[in-house]
Amino acid sequence: MEDRLTTKQERLAETSSRERFERAYLVAVDQDSSDSLWSVEDSLSELGTLARTAGAQVVGNMVQRLRHPDGATYLGKGRAQELAELEKTVGFDLVIFDDELSPSQQRNLEKLLQARVIDRTALILDIFAQHAYTREGRLQVELAQLEYRLPRLAGSSEDLSRQAGGSRSAGTGGTGGAIGVRGPGETKLEMDRRRIRGRISELREEIESVREQRKVHRRHRTAQALPVVAVVGYTNSGKSTLFNVFTSADVLAENKLFATLDPTTRHIFLPNNQEALLTDTVGFIQKLPTRLIAAFRATLEEVIDADLLLEVVDVVHENAIEQSETVSEILRSLDAADKPRVTALNKIDLLEDSAEVDTSLYPHAVPISALQHIGLDALRAQIAEVLATSMEAVQVVLPYDKSDLVELFHRRGHVLQEEHRAEGTFLAGRLPRALCGYFRAYSHR
Ligand code: GDP
Ligand code: MG
Repeated sequence: MEDRLTTKQERLAETSSRERFERAYLVAVDQDSSDSLWSVEDSLSELGTLARTAGAQVVGNMVQRLRHPDGATYLGKGRAQELAELEKTVGFDLVIFDDELSPSQQRNLEKLLQARVIDRTALILDIFAQHAYTREGRLQVELAQLEYRLPRLAGSSEDLSRQAGGSRSAGTGGTGGAIGVRGPGETKLEMDRRRIRGRISELREEIESVREQRKVHRRHRTAQALPVVAVVGYTNSGKSTLFNVFTSADVLAENKLFATLDPTTRHIFLPNNQEALLTDTVGFIQKLPTRLIAAFRATLEEVIDADLLLEVVDVVHENAIEQSETVSEILRSLDAADKPRVTALNKIDLLEDSAEVDTSLYPHAVPISALQHIGLDALRAQIAEVLATSMEAVQVVLPYDKSDLVELFHRRGHVLQEEHRAEGTFLAGRLPRALCGYFRAYSHR
């Protein structure tokens, strides 16, 4: 905890001393054939938000309609040349492409544009790197960054990265450097290939041991039979804010994308005093490369393991539907799309008329404002209700010397009926599946 605060303070100090924003120009190709949910304009506007989150100033953008991106320069030759001319009048340090570039496309473009060229993936990784607070998060970011950079370490791109990387003290979380070349292992990013490969296998082993630890924690939880509710949702939808008000935890919430990288798990109490674990997760985003998803597997396993997903939707965002559909797509890729889900339609405080929220579009939806504490009781009740249906119906008669089991049923389960009978306490209700074993012997039909 203290460790994290120090880092935060250092980071704030460094941010305020940063003199100038990097000037970034954004580029996208609009492929007619693309079956993406997102329009190129919306995707580009999101790329702009990402760029600003990373600390850049967006100075312009360009869209080219092309059936297929050019193999050598992504943009067509003409438009690429046009961009090189623009650099002389507009002046930019950085060009950010909305799709992943191949290493050779990136090299060719840097040579042609005489500016640093990065893609959406590098930008997302950069923001991840700025927001990785725990050891685990930093390991995962470093791995993803090294894997991304390995095939790109050649010729001019390496030189430019080196220039941009400059000299910085190691291990401060990579603030203050140039966008795209900051990160937990940034000094190591300048190592040669062989050493990078070595570091990659080291990181894989460390991450594997983190996964093992998590597995132990999960087994422990299963033994406690606490239902786990994972907060999921598009980045910036308000997950951490909601997590904070539900758990009164001090989890960093800021109006930037990807403020959360490491899941944090806390107890919450639902109506009827039912107890559950709530776990905050990394934000989802469109065009999240599968390689990146793999690097964050240890974290995402919390989602796979959850009993219930609490999806937070920024209901006032113009792309709310696309964002939610993207979340579902990623959940499908994790095989977690079929889990019971409750949807918090967040930020209704920003609507003039909250009655205009259409709850029919989302499963078990409750309009809320995490910030203004509106609708939170209704949301808790909805979570309790859906959790109850994901539990097993049980009827037991517990002998009077088993008061600990009566207490357990009340605390971890959902009591629908209770009677004090001659032979013991009769309880009817629902219990988390993992807990049913303790009650089997007292089952009553
Ligand atoms: P996360 O990326 O999903 O974890 O989102 P955060 O919890 O960090 O919130 C992102 C931004 O949305 C922050 O600026 C929050 O203050 C803001 N926010 C969260 N909930 C609400 C809400 O109910 N109303 C409004 N107006 N803003 C909110
Ligand atoms: Mg967050």
